[in-house]
Amino acid sequence: MIALAARGVVPGLSVVLVGDDAASAVYVANKEKFARQVGMHGDTIRLPASTTQAELLALVEQLNADDAVHGILVQMPLPSHIDPDVVIRHIAPHKDVDGFHPVNVGKMLIGHTDGFLPCTPAGVIELLVRSGVETRGAEAVIVGRSNIVGKPMAALLVQARAGGDATVTVCHSRSRDLFEHTRRADILIAAVGRAEMIRGEHIKPGATVIDVGMNRVADASRASGSRLCGDVHFESAEAVAGKITPVPGGVGPMTIAMLLQNTVRAAERTASRIGA
Ligand code: NDP
Repeated sequence: MIALAARGVVPGLSVVLVGDDAASAVYVANKEKFARQVGMHGDTIRLPASTTQAELLALVEQLNADDAVHGILVQMPLPSHIDPDVVIRHIAPHKDVDGFHPVNVGKMLIGHTDGFLPCTPAGVIELLVRSGVETRGAEAVIVGRSNIVGKPMAALLVQARAGGDATVTVCHSRSRDLFEHTRRADILIAAVGRAEMIRGEHIKPGATVIDVGMNRVADASRASGSRLCGDVHFESAEAVAGKITPVPGGVGPMTIAMLLQNTVRAAERTASRIGA
């Protein structure tokens, strides 16, 4: 950032929000807030749910062509009449700071470092490395195989480098004996989207537990009538695990940190290319 500032470059992140999904509105507001806090240009373009796919693609093209915009993020989920894959493929790969464009997914899988890593799995790797968790040779079990968390998580953990070299198992709704797998994990990553499904008895003593889940459940004891929780039942898991991430306050903030890091990298690469 300092080197960029010296060259007169301010990293710019444009977030596009289509529709009025309440959870998405909160995520987007946080992304804009943190981008500004670290001195970036962060703006959110809010479009009505009635926006057509053609209109959204035209906006993406406009952002692709705007030199002040280094990173573009289209918040998911999109309204059902818009195909998310078409939109993602429309974002210029060098501005795809979410790391979902097939070009960036391919680079991640191969192990090339000149693409963008998807923010949530990259944040998990950063958490593991900075917390001194040995991934080399570890049994890593991921519950969930989505394109945004489970699959890229597996791709990163299996790379032959720091924060990788793990023996990876990916579980999903068709896995037989799910908890047989979770119970032998040295590193257990839950990305299921099912509130508090994994409990202490499903965890190997001393394991590192990373809870990606973000679920809102009813809670009459709260003024709001609800609370956020993960895919792991924290109290029972904490008693067994060696290390565990909380929800909220664990993977969520790391995801935003990685988004900002990708945006700075995008700005650095653009600045180098145009010789700013
Ligand atoms: P998806 O719904 O896309 O994927 C969930 C996965 O869990 C699927 O692969 C599904 O299997 C699997 N699954 C569902 N039920 C079971 C079950 N009973 N047993 C085993 N596997 C099961 O969710 P995401 O990956 O998008 O998100 C997962 C969670 O992480 C959510 O709570 C989400 O809110 C949260 N999240 C948090 C982020 C953060 O920044 N903290 C970022 C992104 C997500 P199958 O494929 O067979 O259907």
